[in-house]
Amino acid sequence: MSPISAETFLTTPEAVAQALNIPVEPLRAVHVVYPLRISTYYLNLIQQHGLPLWKQAVPDLSELTDTVGLTDSLGEESFSPVPCVVHKYPDRALLLVSNQCAMYCRFCTRKRKVGKPEMAVDDAALTQGFQYLSNTQCISDVLISGGDPLMLNTARLEWIIRSLRAIPHIVTIRIGTRVPCTLPLRVTPKLAAMLKKYHPLYINTHFNHPAEITPEAQQACTYLAEAGIPLGCQTVLLRGINDSPAIIKELLYSLIRIRVKPYYLFQADQAKGTAHFRTTVDTGLSIMRELIGHVTGMAIPTFALDAPGGGGKIPLTPEYITHKGDTLEFTNYKGEPYSYPNWIVS
Ligand code: SF4
Repeated sequence: MSPISAETFLTTPEAVAQALNIPVEPLRAVHVVYPLRISTYYLNLIQQHGLPLWKQAVPDLSELTDTVGLTDSLGEESFSPVPCVVHKYPDRALLLVSNQCAMYCRFCTRKRKVGKPEMAVDDAALTQGFQYLSNTQCISDVLISGGDPLMLNTARLEWIIRSLRAIPHIVTIRIGTRVPCTLPLRVTPKLAAMLKKYHPLYINTHFNHPAEITPEAQQACTYLAEAGIPLGCQTVLLRGINDSPAIIKELLYSLIRIRVKPYYLFQADQAKGTAHFRTTVDTGLSIMRELIGHVTGMAIPTFALDAPGGGGKIPLTPEYITHKGDTLEFTNYKGEPYSYPNWIVS
């Protein structure tokens, strides 16, 4: 079976209800509003590990009762000069290349459009995107995202990357993908060999729970790492899934074991239909306090919040400084007080 054939996925409420032995009606109600797809690979993980993975994948009626969520929580549409480009920051832009994902995560920020026909990206839209990026000299870094870029066939993905590489001012190309987590068999030596031709190329994966770090995920990351691709991970802090220091610690150690550098731990966005996943910022800060100084710095992500309305990413760090003046007073990771002379010798 090809890694992306119809049999690779469950896409109907009936198929999911049957596989998990649950009532179909709630699934149907949610599916009217939001798309549904679970890879058979991830289904298997749900069956082995239960709730933390179940909640990420299986539609829940809470998605329909969110009264505080925002449809376009990051204000992406207002930073979109052409349909498949989001240009919010000075030197970088997002290129949205696909509306497909191997799994439609229930907490997704782009829940409003992933998996829906109106987000489909055709050649004309991509050509318009390349044109915009080519005409905008300040952009040196492009993040290829979606949906999931690795859901495209390898030839089409190569056409996109080659087109970006042909733009002289684009230095770094990044791919944001959840496929190493949700459909790792899609990552093949052939895919890695293609990607290897376009360095400097970086990949940001997305793992949220240690149970997602499987031998298959490790193999996928090994193919990519051995193609010289630096791998990062963007994790979302999710209530009832990974909102404890012990789980996040285990995830971080597991990631560096498979050669993936934890990059961001995100406070969950305020996307409509995801309120039941959100923690308070204090939860994230207290997790960071248990990580910084206690866990190797290599494994420490930046905890950040993406400001609603397009304000951009704001790093969130526990407070260590207790007094700022000629002497800086602070506590260390154990809570012990220290000071440092905060002046220069003239
Ligand atoms: S893979 Fe990423 S873009 Fe796709 S549904 Fe999951 S979080 Fe959203």
